[in-house]
Formats: sequence, C-alpha cells, structure tokens
Amino acid sequence: MTDYLPFARPLIDEETIAGVAEVLRSGWITSGPQVKAFEAALSRLCGGRAVRSFSSGTAALEVGLRLAGIGAGHEVITTPLSWVATANVVLEVGARPVFVDVDPRTRNIDLDKIQAAITPATRALIPVDLAGLPVDRDRLYAISRQNNLRVIEDAAQSFGARWRGRALGTFGDLIAFSFHANKNITTAEGGALVLPEDNLISLCEKLRLQGVARFGEDGMEVDVLGGKWNLTDVAARLGLGQLPHLQEFTDRRRDLARRYFERWDSSLDCELPAEDFENSNWHMFQVVLSKRADRARFIAAMREQGIGVGVHYPAMHLFALYRALGWRAGQFPHAERIGRSIATLPLYPAMTEADVSRVCEAARKALS
Ligand SMILES: *Cc1c(COP(=O)(O)O)cnc(C)c1O
Repeated sequence: MTDYLPFARPLIDEETIAGVAEVLRSGWITSGPQVKAFEAALSRLCGGRAVRSFSSGTAALEVGLRLAGIGAGHEVITTPLSWVATANVVLEVGARPVFVDVDPRTRNIDLDKIQAAITPATRALIPVDLAGLPVDRDRLYAISRQNNLRVIEDAAQSFGARWRGRALGTFGDLIAFSFHANKNITTAEGGALVLPEDNLISLCEKLRLQGVARFGEDGMEVDVLGGKWNLTDVAARLGLGQLPHLQEFTDRRRDLARRYFERWDSSLDCELPAEDFENSNWHMFQVVLSKRADRARFIAAMREQGIGVGVHYPAMHLFALYRALGWRAGQFPHAERIGRSIATLPLYPAMTEADVSRVCEAARKALS
C-alpha cells in the first residue's frame, strides 16, 4: 500500500520545531516578543504597512469590519462560494451579508453583478480569493471608489499571491489573512489584518483584546468592547519559521498545479481551475465534476485508492442559518452548481510530481 495523500498537509522544518520548543521553555508562551517579531516580518512582506496578528483569520475579518465601521443597518456584499466564516463575521457585527453569484471561470464573485446588488445600505465589499486566485483588484477597487464602499479583502487563502506583480497585502484597504493549518503558511491557528493607515493601530489592538488600553506604569482604560483574539508566542514562532519558505512553497505549488494540467484526463469532462500562473498562489487545485458524476461516490472511490479529497465549499446561502434570513436555492446558479460538484485534490509542498500523476490516474479510475 502506497502512502495516503491527504488534500492538504503543513510542512514544518526541524529548526521551527526546535524554535517552538524554545518558546515553550522560555516562561512566556502567550503574546509577547515572538508576536512582535512575526508582525514585523509580516509588515515587511506587506510593503511596510501596519499588520496585526490574530488568533484566527475569522477574528482578523471581524476586526476589519469593525474598523471599517460596519454594524447594524449596513449591508456587505460578498460571494456565496467561500468558507462560511466570510459571511458569519458580517452577522457577528450586526450587519447583513448580501450575496452575488460567482463567475464560473474564476469561481470568485462576479464583479459585473455587484452594481445591481448595491443599495443605500451597502457599506462594504468582501471579495474572496478562492483557492488563492485573486479577484481582479483593479476592477474591484474601481467599483469600491465609484460607490464609496470599504473593502475588507478575505485573503485567507491568498497569502503569497499577487495581482499584476504586486503582492496582496501591499496595497488596498483592509486585508485579512489566515494561517489555519491548511493554509499556505500556518501558525496552526491564526490570522493577520493589514491596516491601510497607521492611525488604526490602537483601535485594532483594543478590538483584539477586550478593548483594553494601557498607559504609563499602571494605567488601564476600556472605552470600546473588544474580543479575545490575540495570537500566542507559540503560534507566532511557528509562523516565523514558515515565512522564509513562502516563495519556495508558492513555487512548488505552482509546479504541482502545472503537472495537474498536464496529467488530467480531459475526457473526464471536469472543469479545471483558471490556468493562472502569474497571480495565484495555488492554495488549492479544485475540479468541478461533470453533471453525471456523483461527488460522494468520487470521494469514496478516491479514499479507497489512498487519496484525500476535500469539499470547499457548498454554497453558503443554502445553509439553514442563511435560508432563515431569506436566501433561497436558485438565486445563484453558478455558485450552487459549483458548490454541489467541486472537489479539492491533494496539493501541498511536500508532494511530488509522481504523487500528482497518481491522483490523476486514481481520478480517471474513479470517474470512468
Ligand atoms: C480559512 C478561511 C477563513 C477563516 O480563517 P480561520 O483562520 O480558519 O478563522 C475565512 N475565509 C476563507 C475564504 C478561508 O479559507
């Protein structure tokens, strides 16, 4: 029996493991010097902009919405084809998520459909770079400027991706990254928010930790309600050990994606992802199965061949929580069809080209 190939797997070097052990022995394991160093390293990758770390990408998104002043009575436009966190945070701050269908080629929000969804209550856009393929930032920010809307980029999956030569996070409004275990760079759990202006730093830090501001030797004040979303030094040390590998991991993912395009049997009648080798960080390699294929049977048949297949994601407006808010089947035909038939194939930096060939061969058997 050959080794099992999961759909995702973090790659953590021994030096990082030793570094984490050192933090554990140091006597200071929650937010401290490692968090400061991690945020400084992230800031360098984001063109010197202020970056603050969080215990999750979800927390970073929620604080992004709060910093943009989004709350009760406001609407936020986003895609139904994402991890449910994207819309959950809108509900968390008391606003209403408004979904717009996706472009079937990119599987990202269809920018042509945003204008029709804007109402006097619309305050912000949350674009999602599904699988690490960036939403067109030129058009996105043209729409936001024309309509005076804030942007909270859900770049949870697109850390290390670019838009026309510029790294995501180096430009734009508020940008949220995730360092969940399955993301391209991980802190096990964690996230970060890139701020458009340094004068947001103090409110951002307060919202992250109970609203607390400290001053002098012993001063403390609370003037806003904050969460409990600080990253630990243990996690930050893991992240610090990951960042030097960012380019190498991204390059490796790109090479493996190329191999998928070469080896995939086109007669299987699946839709392959957009072939973007300029901007995407290839967070995932996802195929949309043909109408005839049964996804559950495909997943089982792949598992029997030692291959893990993921589902990212069912269209979220059809979850009971969102149906209770009035969303219905039939409203977003592309997202609904893709959500029913999309399958995430193994892709992670420790994979080999031979592993990709094995996945393609197993898929051919499973689908024919
Ligand atoms: C992972 C992810 C999130 C949330 O990040 P967490 O770190 O798991 O909280 C949000 N949006 C998208 C698109 C994601 O993939």
